[in-house]
Amino acid sequence: QVISGAPGVRGSRVTILTKDSLNLIDFMESIIFKTQKVGENEHEPFYVLDLGVVASLYDKWIQSLPMVHPFYAVKCNPEPALLGALAALGSNFDCASRAEIEAVLALGVSSDRIIYANPCKAVSHIKYAASVGVNLTTFDSREELDKIRKWHPKCALLIRVKGPDDSGARSPLGAKYGALEDEVEPLLQASQAAQLNVTGVSFHIGSGAMKLHAYRGAIAAAKEVFDTAARLGMPKLRVLNIGGGFTADPYFDEAVSVVKSSLQTHFAIVPGLSIMSEPGRFFAESAFTLAANIIGKRVRGDLREYWINDGIYGSMNCIVNDNATVTCMPLTSSSKVSKNYSSTVFGPTCDAFDTILKGHQLPELRVSDWLVFPKMGAYAASTGSRFNGFDTGAISTYLAYSNPS
Ligand code: PLP
Repeated sequence: QVISGAPGVRGSRVTILTKDSLNLIDFMESIIFKTQKVGENEHEPFYVLDLGVVASLYDKWIQSLPMVHPFYAVKCNPEPALLGALAALGSNFDCASRAEIEAVLALGVSSDRIIYANPCKAVSHIKYAASVGVNLTTFDSREELDKIRKWHPKCALLIRVKGPDDSGARSPLGAKYGALEDEVEPLLQASQAAQLNVTGVSFHIGSGAMKLHAYRGAIAAAKEVFDTAARLGMPKLRVLNIGGGFTADPYFDEAVSVVKSSLQTHFAIVPGLSIMSEPGRFFAESAFTLAANIIGKRVRGDLREYWINDGIYGSMNCIVNDNATVTCMPLTSSSKVSKNYSSTVFGPTCDAFDTILKGHQLPELRVSDWLVFPKMGAYAASTGSRFNGFDTGAISTYLAYSNPS
């Protein structure tokens, strides 16, 4: 019910999937059948966004971390229907640029539900944020403070500190962002001198984090920043932003338990504390399934080689840029054939690097069969290119709502 009222979903048809009538694979087959029949998007790759998955993940977040307000990280996947659904469910948003802020405001979300969580911002984007009332951002350098003092002096600020250990994360961020321990005090003093309003601390333990104890170290380090600010006589800090790093199963429950116990240890006695987080992957990754069409084939002995119409320069750039492991299964009836072959799956561009899978076991498939790639919602479509004229941004998304009853 909530989902169908989501601003981003207005005008789009959401197909309800139930255990008894229609599952995701049936739905994908019906899309292929319909689009081919009317000669529309013939054989083009497409995504299915399952809004039922988003709703149940949101529910899981609220049940598990009720004290932590989610600000969905738009960069992970800016699909408007996903943004609209999350807005309707009550999420706030982490935007990293003018375009992301515009996308969220276009849904009718108010500017006080947005954090501009990019520690290094272009002046034109800062001016835009000021003009639309986005009044919360992050910083980790004096130069950023100078820009904010000049162009958005009323903005509340979170000092982004480097997490203690982001090794092992799929996408570590510490080499680029976060003040070092000995930079914190001078930065807080510089903000005092500039009469800027630092209200809290933020960190990110790395996207797709594996070492979840990193939340413990980062939360402890954040408390030290609160204490340093108090020692400097600054107004009391009251915002703790624990960033992203969350994945859905199997690591979520462990992350929740580390976060909760660390908050209890270090922040139980901080009055009026507001805790926020910037989950991207957690909400987006498992909600999207990609279907790509086989456009070419070569047989070399027992080896099968297939070309499909999305690849390393498109959605599957996540293999390179996000250390993702992708997997696929065939969508056609030929999958019922029991013999499997060691298969290579290439992307469509004329670059040999555009190789998605090698040694993957697949049955004998034909040109124009389909491959389905699950869990393709994080840093996949959003980071693809138009190399060789294959435009990742043009891939359609169909909406479904899985309802187990
Ligand atoms: N917040 C910031 C500042 C980020 O840079 C990122 C990802 O790069 C995120 C949030 C989202 O992180 P995740 O997808 O791990 O939840």
